[in-house]
Amino acid sequence: MASLDALIAPRLAALEPSRQRRLLLPADPALIDVASNDYLGLSRHPQLIERACQWAHRHGSGSRASRLVTGTSADLLALEEKLAAFKGTEAALIFATGYQLNSSVLPALFELGSDKHGPLVFTDRLNHASLHAGCQGLKQIRFRHNDLAHLDELLTTNPGSLRFIITESVFSMDGDTADVPALAALAARHNAILYLDEAHATGVLGPQGKGLAALAPGRVPVVMGTLGKALGSAGAYVAGSRALIDWLVNRCAGFIYSTAPAPAALGAVEAALELVPGMDAERARLAQMADSLRTTLQASGYDTLASTTQIVPAIMGDAAAALAAAQRLRASGLLAVAIRPPTVPAGSARLRFALSTALSDAAFERVLTSVAQLKR
Ligand SMILES: *Cc1c(COP(=O)(O)O)cnc(C)c1O
Repeated sequence: MASLDALIAPRLAALEPSRQRRLLLPADPALIDVASNDYLGLSRHPQLIERACQWAHRHGSGSRASRLVTGTSADLLALEEKLAAFKGTEAALIFATGYQLNSSVLPALFELGSDKHGPLVFTDRLNHASLHAGCQGLKQIRFRHNDLAHLDELLTTNPGSLRFIITESVFSMDGDTADVPALAALAARHNAILYLDEAHATGVLGPQGKGLAALAPGRVPVVMGTLGKALGSAGAYVAGSRALIDWLVNRCAGFIYSTAPAPAALGAVEAALELVPGMDAERARLAQMADSLRTTLQASGYDTLASTTQIVPAIMGDAAAALAAAQRLRASGLLAVAIRPPTVPAGSARLRFALSTALSDAAFERVLTSVAQLKR
């Protein structure tokens, strides 16, 4: 019998020279966190914690079964209605994680094609790994990042009876945004279906933090977002028509064969949905912080790509340079993460700053000071 560990050891060792081996390190709570996605600081908000406790007391620590068996409560259905109202859609469906959602909702949609070769999928080159997982088995037609002229051209030269455009509203590693109204118009012109991932926009961008799909009301047929980032809890939602949600309840394996999310997590989402629309002041402060950080990084000569959001990359080059920069910031009390290939393209290893209004003004001043000294 082959030893599994003996097969693994040389593969792991092969990751070392290119500094690609990943380690699970406990985060030091004393560090100033500029790496997490808790953009509005809601994960520590007393109202979310309190509501999580209430839902746990009411429904238990676990949900006990798949949604279709016994995992659906009246509270959960009401929460999905609130999410749909927040997103301006007829219906919404909650999943345990965004990765699970993207990797199982897309295959359920691809089933709708009648062509034996499957549908055509047009994907942004920088799409998240979970969107790739959802496209497994299909040849993706990839357009240059945020390049709608390129997408237009590819749609023109690749006709098909069922075509999807799959992209993100805020890109998780570059911090730039897609032009959602233009994407919606392009999709309509080519009779393609737009699938939009709002993981990093939900709660942060768009009117009242409703995401960028709100800039093209009724014109984004499938929109998903996560509940574990700005919404301070865990899980993900997909929002769209009643027919879409009914189809997923019937055909989406990642929904059907998975235990419903824990009640405490759902309770926290309910509280977050009450708070988020009223957090314009926090959103404005977050945007200002991001502007200051970009200005500081650019003054030191770092490329921040096309970032306009709370996610700010600083390009370091190779993986070793990015790791060394993260190490230097750590020594000055900051938790900033080096993002390396294959998560980002070769040569664009970077520090990825993710800002949060949980940072005090004093803490953020320290961030700017440390970043300004990074090159010295
Ligand atoms: C985080 C993320 C996901 C996955 O969501 P999880 O709930 O963390 O599994 C999906 N898409 C994008 C763009 C993300 O950044």
